[in-house]
Amino acid sequence: MIKKKTSFNEYFRKAKIIATIGPKTDSTEELEKLIQAGVSIFRLNFSHDGIDIQGPKADKIKELGKKYGRHITFFADLQGPKLRLGTFKDGSAEIKDGQKFIVDSNPEEGDSNRVYLPHPDILKALKAGDKILIDDGKLQLEVVKNCGDSCETKVLVGGIIKNKKGFNLPDTILKSSCLTEKDKKDLADVKKYGFDWVAVSFVQTPEDVMDARKLIGDDTYLILKLERPSAVADENLEKMVELADCIMVARGDLGVELGAWRVPAAQKKIIAMCAKVGRPVIVATQMLESMIEIPFPTRAEATDVANAIFEGADCVMLSAETATGKYPDIVVQTMNNIIVEAETSPQYPEYMNMFLENIEYSDSISDAMYEAAVAVSDSINAKAIVCLTGSGTSAINLSHLKPNAPIIAIAPDDHTAAKLGFCGGVLPIVAEANLERQEDLESFVSKIVKEEFFADKGDNVVLVLGRNSEESKILFKKGTTNMLSVLKVS
Ligand code: PEP
Repeated sequence: MIKKKTSFNEYFRKAKIIATIGPKTDSTEELEKLIQAGVSIFRLNFSHDGIDIQGPKADKIKELGKKYGRHITFFADLQGPKLRLGTFKDGSAEIKDGQKFIVDSNPEEGDSNRVYLPHPDILKALKAGDKILIDDGKLQLEVVKNCGDSCETKVLVGGIIKNKKGFNLPDTILKSSCLTEKDKKDLADVKKYGFDWVAVSFVQTPEDVMDARKLIGDDTYLILKLERPSAVADENLEKMVELADCIMVARGDLGVELGAWRVPAAQKKIIAMCAKVGRPVIVATQMLESMIEIPFPTRAEATDVANAIFEGADCVMLSAETATGKYPDIVVQTMNNIIVEAETSPQYPEYMNMFLENIEYSDSISDAMYEAAVAVSDSINAKAIVCLTGSGTSAINLSHLKPNAPIIAIAPDDHTAAKLGFCGGVLPIVAEANLERQEDLESFVSKIVKEEFFADKGDNVVLVLGRNSEESKILFKKGTTNMLSVLKVS
């Protein structure tokens, strides 16, 4: 175990903890407590608010990053198309198992026989056999026939529907864009505000990701939340993962749409695909749900977090546990403890080998260098692998090879450092000086690994970089990695 300079770095944990900020945790004091407890990334949820509320939180995180001399990653989670039913005469209506129930285009208040469905394109897209899951699937309808401006359904699971309840359509591909007008406004605001990352919700197909990418642009990194059955279908998953910079297994809506019993296999399938394509992956939602109310996890929750680590997840995410729960910093400490135990357990290397079975190795020079760097580092027990990364690619690829040693990624600027925020085992550092000459690079690396308490004078670290041999110049450029050496820390 390596001692570090701050309490939140006492042990270099590979998997990263994401905390959703909410009313419980949006003060600088609470954010700092979360960082000290082990949070590396903050999620700013745009489901309920816009930049007026979320922007100042981003400012506080940036300030704390300066205080701790760390790049602290944060991202805007865009709401996406949240579907809602209309209202009822009495504020709610009771529907019974087996009865006929109409959803239609009539904006008048509904009753126990019918309700307004205020999305005309969706009404058109519904077909016989499609399920309509209301209130996170607590009530369920099945479409019997589509009559154009109304649909007849049969109630499969009845209950009380309240005004404006949300609904999911697991069987229906919707024609509308995955970015709503609110999302587009939020997106323009967060880009202006300097967010490096945005997450898009309810994406259905590769075409949706391409459309989202056009709006988001190439200068903002894209997290793709996988929460619709079509997104995890064999014909779409690989393409969709390729088109994103990071993937989230959004188990909340995925569980509603697929059925909770299909989530574990879907999670494994998504993580394996991220290994194959080479993207960092987040496992999200209900990880320590009972800790919203009590300061202890259930055994099942602790096992769930550890299993995500054993499966190879780069990040694990907390939602209501830190946004509105009673014990935000205790939840993070608990998650930290579970991860540390998992990563230091004797079985961990074996599980990482299973993750590596999914990787498709290429014959490029760069990929050969990364594999060699990991092999050398593991066999000499190096204290760190240090890579110079112009675009972030080297660090992302090294991270996917799950080396024993931590990876220190020296990036040319903050935006590239931000790209590495979600990669397990990677500490991004922005280069302070011009590192084109070998002597300057070696003294910078020695300084950093000592300052960050990864290594002492005389220890070995592995260096991976690209160099132009004619000019003997070190390159910060994508696809140029061609050098591997072992540096004795001076
Ligand atoms: C989820 O559905 O698991 C998720 C993370 O998305 P949201 O919390 O935005 O519904």
